[in-house]
Amino acid sequence: MSKSRKSVAIIGGGPSALMAAAFLDTDKFDVTVYEKNKSLGRKFLVAGKGGFNLTHSEPIESMIGRYHPMLFLKNSLLNFSNKDLRNWFSQIGIETYIGSSNRVYPVDGIKPIEVLTAIVDFLKEKDVHLKFGYEWSNWKNDSIVFKNRIQIDPDFTIFALGGASWSVTGSNGNWIEIFKLNGYDVIPFQPANCAYEVNWSSDFINWNEGKPLKNISISCYGNSQLGEVVITQFGMEGNAIYALSNEIQKLLDTKGEATVLIDFKPTTELEVVLNKLNKSRHSKISDCLKRDLKLNNTQRGMLKTTLTREEFLNPKVLAKRIKGFPVTLIAAAPIDEAISTTGGIPLSAITDNFELKNRSNTFCIGEMLDWNAPTGGYLLQACFSLGVDLARKINQL
Ligand SMILES: Cc1cc2nc3c(=O)[nH]c(=O)nc-3n(C[C@H](O)[C@H](O)[C@H](O)COP(=O)(O)OP(=O)(O)OC[C@H]3O[C@@H](n4cnc5c(N)ncnc54)[C@H](O)[C@@H]3O)c2cc1C
Repeated sequence: MSKSRKSVAIIGGGPSALMAAAFLDTDKFDVTVYEKNKSLGRKFLVAGKGGFNLTHSEPIESMIGRYHPMLFLKNSLLNFSNKDLRNWFSQIGIETYIGSSNRVYPVDGIKPIEVLTAIVDFLKEKDVHLKFGYEWSNWKNDSIVFKNRIQIDPDFTIFALGGASWSVTGSNGNWIEIFKLNGYDVIPFQPANCAYEVNWSSDFINWNEGKPLKNISISCYGNSQLGEVVITQFGMEGNAIYALSNEIQKLLDTKGEATVLIDFKPTTELEVVLNKLNKSRHSKISDCLKRDLKLNNTQRGMLKTTLTREEFLNPKVLAKRIKGFPVTLIAAAPIDEAISTTGGIPLSAITDNFELKNRSNTFCIGEMLDWNAPTGGYLLQACFSLGVDLARKINQL
């Protein structure tokens, strides 16, 4: 090991940290990842338990538009795009494929742990050091102090401490208190990509719990999202609602509730729906809803139980309701159950190089920063892109 190499400490062992380590030039830097758990990437493995969306395959220009705020991630995504990510995975032996939803998965037969192991093997090959049981607990002057009392003085520090959901994985967001103690303005964590609570009637839930609403779109606060949701005892969950977390949270914060509109026929214009209702060969309106408009039991029940008999029999009122069924959300699910969180370090606290403005050579990447994206591969892509972008920037220092 050359003594002239500068040291980089990466604190946290999730996807953003691992990608930064993978792209740092180890000829130039002595790189160590410090993770508080006994193993790396526990949340990454949890993500792998469901649909393991490593990224999304849509053109990078439209992908950029999925992020809030958009401009923050633009350069990182352009510098290391979804295509670059797939190529890199292929180089380390992880082939991917594009599913019918345009999300990108490891090919069948590759387990999440194998993806993680391939990354870790790549790091070991590069002579990146991996240390476990190192929980960052504070700074002492400029030194990094861990709970095990070990103190280090790296030339560069990269924090990649994650958000504050699924605390069982280690990503509990406790680090925010350390930043606060050191005078940083931080943003409280909020759940994102999570279920929302609805006051369904007990009759409704008895009939419809677990039922999906597929091929719908949901709109809120001027934004709309195609996808599906599932009715649950608690309320609603699914990709169509997750993608609106930002808008919904804004309304919950300001008004205490958020009304979203569900379009049961997003690809059919209101006039066409009305026409179908007016010109149906079925004498019963329920039959028209089922056969001509292909609405399922749950959708028909939702319409029937929320309209008066007169309204239900009035095609204009019914068509309007089919195209915009209002549902009032009263709360987000508990933060620990959310797929991701917003809040943490405000983007205003870091430079374009992700460096903390008042602490030189100290950088923050990943979900610990206050940005948001829908689930479906966008979260991991952003974490990977941020890691690569920062590594390349440090390589040039
Ligand atoms: C159920 C679920 C499913 C998901 N599915 C997907 C999906 O399919 N596609 C997608 O794109 N995204 C998905 N995600 C989101 C994705 O997993 C996260 O956005 C991503 O893991 C964040 O990466 P990160 O590196 O920023 O932080 P994390 O992965 O949270 O890693 C942070 C690491 O830092 C460590 N740490 C924390 N504090 C300290 C400390 N003080 N000292 C040392 N170490 C510390 C933690 O133990 C952790 O290992 C899913 C998330 C969940 C919960």
